[in-house]
Amino acid sequence: MNFSKSEALFERAKVVIPGGVNSPVRAFRAVGGKPFFAARANGAYLYDVDDNAFVDYVCTWGPAILGHAPECVKCAVGAALERGTSFGVPGALEVEMAEMVTAWMPSLEMVRMCNSGTEATMSCIRLARGYTGRDKIIKFEGCYHGHVDSLLVKAGSGALTLGHPDSAGIPASLAAETLCLPFNDLPVLEKVLREVGEQVAAVILEPIPANAGLILPQAGFLQELRRLTAKHGIVLIFDEVMTGFRVGKAGVQGLTGITPDLSAFGKVIGGGLPVGAFGGKRAIMEKLAPLGPVYQAGTLSGNPLAMAAGLAQLRELDANDGFVKLEQLGALLESGVRELLAGKKLGYKFYRIGSMWCLFFTDKEVHNLEDAKTADLAAFNKYFHGMLENGVYVPPSQFETCFISLAHGEVEIRKTLTAMERSL
Ligand SMILES: *Cc1c(COP(=O)(O)O)cnc(C)c1O
Repeated sequence: MNFSKSEALFERAKVVIPGGVNSPVRAFRAVGGKPFFAARANGAYLYDVDDNAFVDYVCTWGPAILGHAPECVKCAVGAALERGTSFGVPGALEVEMAEMVTAWMPSLEMVRMCNSGTEATMSCIRLARGYTGRDKIIKFEGCYHGHVDSLLVKAGSGALTLGHPDSAGIPASLAAETLCLPFNDLPVLEKVLREVGEQVAAVILEPIPANAGLILPQAGFLQELRRLTAKHGIVLIFDEVMTGFRVGKAGVQGLTGITPDLSAFGKVIGGGLPVGAFGGKRAIMEKLAPLGPVYQAGTLSGNPLAMAAGLAQLRELDANDGFVKLEQLGALLESGVRELLAGKKLGYKFYRIGSMWCLFFTDKEVHNLEDAKTADLAAFNKYFHGMLENGVYVPPSQFETCFISLAHGEVEIRKTLTAMERSL
């Protein structure tokens, strides 16, 4: 494959953009080599500026659940564009969005829109602190919640990939308010809550962590977490930025029947435009300005183009049994991968929930970040470049999750399995 135009753009980019990218993982540092630059995307395919085509399992890191540039989103955004790009006063689409997501997710009694997943988790933390009058928060190792100061402690995703689990520029005094525990470890959680539970404002987690690869909660972990947080008066925050509207209409909370106090969203809810949202119990949400003392705001929050895109995408997913079809596509891919892996000497672990999947290059079951770190990264990197050469783009890091869209069909899945056979 020829990447000459991408290489030229990367050289120009590095002069004027730190690392040549606007988000670190895009730089391909973890896997080596240089990033390709996108020209356009359609359905299951991403095309670069050299006109190479890739079956895309990154799907813009999750949002493109219908595939790229779906008709319904293009039409809705086009129509909204004609009416204006931003108003600075409330609009009907914001009410429609709030009514729809509160109807889909039983835990959401009220919701507020913002512009990114980072804003959503940041606002949840502030709100939980304002509501409880406590300062400490608990997070879990390998869970990524965006680049919020308090939450960038032992985070996953780009932070993990680059080997900087803690960022510079975060005051030690602030980081000290964040306790970081291993995921899936109830004895440790119980012990910490027994000691400091009454000082903890919130426990935040990805209920299915998807930023350190894909890690599934063990039986009873989420249920017990719900019970313990309630007992100690702690706000339980589900960060469903990745899993919300991806694993089902009501996210992981719908799959498990657990009711968090607050939840954060992003990615799929925006239909490919910059959107975040957070919501939950009325008594907590009413602490937000202008009703209450916790300040939170946004010039472009509830933006009409973004609301139009998100509403169109969510309605399309729901109207056409999207989640059922995504599960079928996921199962098809899984059976092919498992068949292929059965004949391999090296150890692999494959995990999937609906349309999210991850192949770990380790023979150890992965229940937490420590387990994920046993992966053979050199073997993963060889696989990544092999897949790319064979026209399949998987995330450029072992510690990320792959996404299937409704535009992926049997043809693309077969192509993917062939590429895997050649790259493993
Ligand atoms: C992507 C992500 C975020 C951050 O969202 P941005 O829109 O990138 O700010 C937060 N939490 C989780 C679980 C995510 O996957």
